Formats: sequence, structure tokens, C-alpha cells
Amino acid sequence: MDLTKEFEGKVVVISGGSRGIGLATVKKLLGYGAKVCFLSHYEETGKKAMDELMAINPDYEVMTFHPDLCDYKQVKEMYAAVEEKWGKVDVLINNAGVDSGIFLSKMKKSDWNAVMDVNINAMFTMCKYGVEHMYKKKGGAIVNTASVAGVYGSSMGLPYPVSKAAVIGLTKSLAGELAPFKIRVNAVAPGVVDTDMVAGLNDIARKSIGKTIPLGRMAEADELANAICFLASGAASYITGTVLQVDGAYRPANTMN
Ligand code: NAD
Repeated sequence: MDLTKEFEGKVVVISGGSRGIGLATVKKLLGYGAKVCFLSHYEETGKKAMDELMAINPDYEVMTFHPDLCDYKQVKEMYAAVEEKWGKVDVLINNAGVDSGIFLSKMKKSDWNAVMDVNINAMFTMCKYGVEHMYKKKGGAIVNTASVAGVYGSSMGLPYPVSKAAVIGLTKSLAGELAPFKIRVNAVAPGVVDTDMVAGLNDIARKSIGKTIPLGRMAEADELANAICFLASGAASYITGTVLQVDGAYRPANTMN
């Protein structure tokens, strides 16, 4: 599918855009001709990603910010800067996320809140102020990154699957609320993707995970970027409120499924 015409001149805001699935998506969107504002956790990682993008094509229309995603003021200022430079927001991709391997017995309230803040509370702030810009132009698309852990559960640390289940709830609920305004809301649910999030695994662990995935390997970040771009594009014009599992049929271990 050639999405070039879909994104030419479109303005995209994406969180968690400095590496992994997010950076792969930013590269694809810029290649399709979109104008992209990508957000990073740290100024340094944003700068590093920006250097990488400029080395690919110095003419790319791209900017970066590193707001606290739960801080209303900082998020509003970021959207205002995008509106001022490019005049609109067409697509919002909520991709930032953190994992947690802490089990209930050892978990502090602050551990729980830290994961909830990045994975779901930030999504609320980003959507609340992002759609204000989409209302004005009478349409748009939102794509959220969930996880198969949010679909099936996972016993590898509670706040992560709970927050990702909330992402799915937000996606389906907001899709109904925003449909009258021609704003589509969808999610991708990755299985295991070869990014920094799984970089801590040694070779043995990587091979054994591969064996638990029916397609026999982890996904590449690019394969998730393809799904995100599809859902954000006009090629998905009649799709809203859906969760696209991009998981090679992987199911998290030790669940009740
Ligand atoms: P990654 O760790 O490379 O990327 C995570 C991104 O989130 C980074 O860009 C990081 O800067 C951003 N982020 C983290 N904490 C943040 C904070 N406090 N404020 C702002 N940004 C913050 O991993 P990835 O695999 O590319 O993850 C992208 C998304 O995919 C996440 O939502 C993750 O939960 C989801 N996911 C990943 C996998 C996997 O196996 N890699 C599986 C399922 C879902």
C-alpha cells in the first residue's frame, strides 16, 4: 500500500518518538511527506533522534519537544507551538510507554503511579488538548499503542497490563465520543517487539521468547510502524474503536487464557 499521498502535508504529533517503535513511525511518516512533531522523555534523546533524521534528509519538516506528558500546561504549550508553525493537527499518536517488572508484594504506590502516569494518564492529557485542534479542522485520527498484555493480562508485573487494558478502554470509548466529529480512534497491540524495552534480555532469553511466538520471532519496530501508519491514514477511513493486534499470535505467559 502506497501511503505517500495519504500523509503529504499532514501534521502529526507523536509521543515516545525518539526511539523504538516511535522513531520507526516518525521515519516512515516523514518519508511519506508528513510534518512531524515528535516528543521524547529527555531533551538529549530527542536531539539524538533529530540528528539521525536530519542525516537522512535535512529537508524533513520535523520538530521535537520533551514536555511532561501529564502536565496540562506543558502539553498545551507544545500543541500551540505546532499550531503556530503548521496551522493544524491531523494525527495524534500516543506511543510513549514504560514497562514494570515489579510484583504486587514489592510494589510501592509510587511504582504503580509512575507506570500509570506514562501509559494512561499522559494519554488523557494528550487526547484532551490534541482533539481541540482536530475539532477546529473537523476531523483527525488518533492511534494509541496498547499491548497484548492489555488484552490477555500478564503476570510479569501488574501496572503494565492494567495500564494497557485502560488504553484499550480509552480507545474504544473515545472512538464513540469523537465519531460525530470525524475523529477516528484506534490502537495497536504489539506482542514482543525488538526495541530497547526488551534490550535487557540475553541471547538465551531472546531465543526462548522466539520459540513462544507462533511466527517464530519478535516483531521489528518497522512492522509496528506499518500498522500505526495504516490506522492513521485514510486507508483506514471506516475503522474506528478497533485494536489491531500485531503480535505474530504471541500470547503472554502465565495468564489465565
Ligand atoms: P522504547 O522503550 O524504545 O520506547 C518507549 C518510548 O516511550 C520512548 O520513546 C521513551 O522516551 C518514551 N517514554 C518513556 N517514559 C516516558 C516519560 N516518562 N515521558 C515521556 N516519554 C516517555 O520501547 P518501544 O518498544 O518502542 O515502546 C513503544 C510502545 O510500545 C510503548 O507504549 C510500549 O508499552 C509498547 N509496547 C512495546 C512492546 C515491546 O515488546 N517492545 C510490546 C508491547 C507494547
